[in-house]
Amino acid sequence: MDGQSKLLGFFDRKLGDSAGVGPQTQKLLNHLGLHTNRDLLWHLPVRVESFPLTPLHLALNGQSCTVRVRVSHTILTRNMLRVVVEEASGGRGALQIVFFKGRLKELESLFKQVQGWFFSGTLSLLDGVLSLVHPVGWGRIEKGPPSLFQVIYPLTKGLGSPTLQRLVQGRLRDLPDMPEWLPDILLPTHGWPSFSQALGQVHCPQKEADLSLHAPGRQRLAFDELLAHQLMLLQGRLGKNQKSSPPLQGTGENVKKVLATAGFCLTSSQQKALGEIYGDLEKDVPMARLLQGDVGSGKTILALLAIARATEAGFQAVFLAPTEILAQQQGEKAQKLFEETGVTVALLTRTTPQKKKLLHKISSGEVQVVVGTHAVFQEAVGFAKLGLVIIDEQHRFGVAQRLQIAQKGLNPHMLIMSATPIPRTLEMTLFADLDVSVLNEKPGGRQGIETFVIPASRIHEVKDFMAQHLQGGGQVYWVCPLIEATDENGPQGAKGACVSDRFQDLQAVFQGRVGVVHGQQKGEEKRAVLEAFRSQKIQILVSTTVIEVGVDVPEATLMVIESAQQFGLAQLHQLRGRVGRGGAKSYCFLIYSYPLSDVGKQRLQAIKKSNDGFWIAEQDWRLRGGGDLLGVRQSGLPLFAFADLSVHRDLLEKAHTFAQQILKSDPLLEGKEGRPWDMLLHLFRKKREAVDLLSSA
Ligand code: ADP
Ligand code: MG
Repeated sequence: MDGQSKLLGFFDRKLGDSAGVGPQTQKLLNHLGLHTNRDLLWHLPVRVESFPLTPLHLALNGQSCTVRVRVSHTILTRNMLRVVVEEASGGRGALQIVFFKGRLKELESLFKQVQGWFFSGTLSLLDGVLSLVHPVGWGRIEKGPPSLFQVIYPLTKGLGSPTLQRLVQGRLRDLPDMPEWLPDILLPTHGWPSFSQALGQVHCPQKEADLSLHAPGRQRLAFDELLAHQLMLLQGRLGKNQKSSPPLQGTGENVKKVLATAGFCLTSSQQKALGEIYGDLEKDVPMARLLQGDVGSGKTILALLAIARATEAGFQAVFLAPTEILAQQQGEKAQKLFEETGVTVALLTRTTPQKKKLLHKISSGEVQVVVGTHAVFQEAVGFAKLGLVIIDEQHRFGVAQRLQIAQKGLNPHMLIMSATPIPRTLEMTLFADLDVSVLNEKPGGRQGIETFVIPASRIHEVKDFMAQHLQGGGQVYWVCPLIEATDENGPQGAKGACVSDRFQDLQAVFQGRVGVVHGQQKGEEKRAVLEAFRSQKIQILVSTTVIEVGVDVPEATLMVIESAQQFGLAQLHQLRGRVGRGGAKSYCFLIYSYPLSDVGKQRLQAIKKSNDGFWIAEQDWRLRGGGDLLGVRQSGLPLFAFADLSVHRDLLEKAHTFAQQILKSDPLLEGKEGRPWDMLLHLFRKKREAVDLLSSA
């Protein structure tokens, strides 16, 4: 057996196969989700409890301490051993050490033999007597004070931290030799210890600070873990590069016509991103690119220009949007922009009439461009020659859905668009298998959005402002969290304002100029209302969050969000992004009502303060508490044992760069230099996942 398999064998070994783990303990360990040596060593203590040396006469009930004592006498009954002790140096104070479990007889004779002891634990009153029940540690005086710290693990009933610590220490002692895989330069720069030393540090801290996420040992382990994760993702991506796709090249004719119809010049970051996209499309491996840009940065036109290129090359393209409203809007926009090209653009949503006929046209190739909702795409749509897939507002789709599309048996080029719902560095963990283009500027001539935070009691001021604003020719969105008032909502409207009430209220003042749109309307109804708003037949659109993403009406310049405390940060930013899309100055009013939590207040302040989606995403992450497991789980982010992405973001970036370097010289990690990294993938159990990703991509 070579060194590597021996090493991995150790980490994979079942806990039950090791000495010191009886069937009962094994059951408790399994209950904690700990099955192998790896699980045990990956299971970190949550805190350190300190047991400071305390003179007995100063020790109080409830206190955690270490006492230096002398055994006075012992009392053994059938199921309890009491060891009565006094201050070793002869001072005042008395205490009883109590044991209910363990080999009580043996313990008694031990305490009879040796007089002087240190005991650590938490004091309590037992039958009115100051007691230390089951000390967490003890040792003879002549050996010096025991560790004045006890490591506390997340516990399960019946399995104490001392037991876990004893087991962990056993594993640490048995740890086979591990060759150093990190390059010489990394370790001293950061003061990182070796892998096995690092494991020792996180499990046997000498003080609270050793458990910090910034402690060198913890950092090293986090780095290794993130590196393994990045290697896995990047390898998956290399696998993709081994597939072939049609290179999409063209005359530039359709591209020119679409741009001319749009009637504006691309910003320089749009130009740069477009260059990157075209560069990918020319290749015979599938493009997998993320186009990232804040709300209003102008992603749609780039998607349409990519589609124009695909049509020039004689291929079909599909544009997927997360909502029906958005699909409709983008479909109409595409139809308009492709008018001069002779390319047929079709809209395919749940409510599309004569769907069968359309599907036939798609499979025959008569329709070249399909704009639709994702749900529709999943139905039996066959393409004659699909070359390009665009996914708009990617954060609304899961990673799994992204892979599903790639799995359609085609190898289309893929462009994924996102408005940064999560911070950049986090995106690297999710999308390390993608190339990224960034739009970091908004098209010129934008005057920005001024944001106000206002209590519901002053809503009349907002209405006054709105009346004036309308006289100046502006269009207004008014967003409420609910469609109808519900019984649970109660008279106070604890869950927020509703669209139907607000519509009636505004209709009374601004007769004939108000429309309503929400998710329970039929597709046709929604379309008609949006169209009326777009063409300025109505000026005020009262709406739920159905307009949250993507809706583009450049004339809209006032956004009112009622019960704003009900919305998340990313959502507020997206909603506000519906205005400020044209040349005129825009305004946003965030109306809040009570109860308003601290975090709710901070969210509103964050939105008021900044219009920078990146910054807001960071705040969002911070306010939700980066470590909040549930949040992380729900967001589909990978979970790590050692790395905590709210703290180790710099390590993530380093790991990303380093993983790229490693794979550059040995993409399959098969050569001599690649072997340690292959081992790392195994060590962190990323190997199989990498293989899965390869075969699904
Ligand atoms: P998002 O990135 O949020 O999807 P859109 O693609 O909807 O943004 O673009 C926002 C608005 O900006 C649209 O009305 C679009 O026509 C306009 N726009 C995009 N690029 C430019 C540009 N280079 N110059 C002027 N207006 C532009
Ligand atoms: Mg958009």
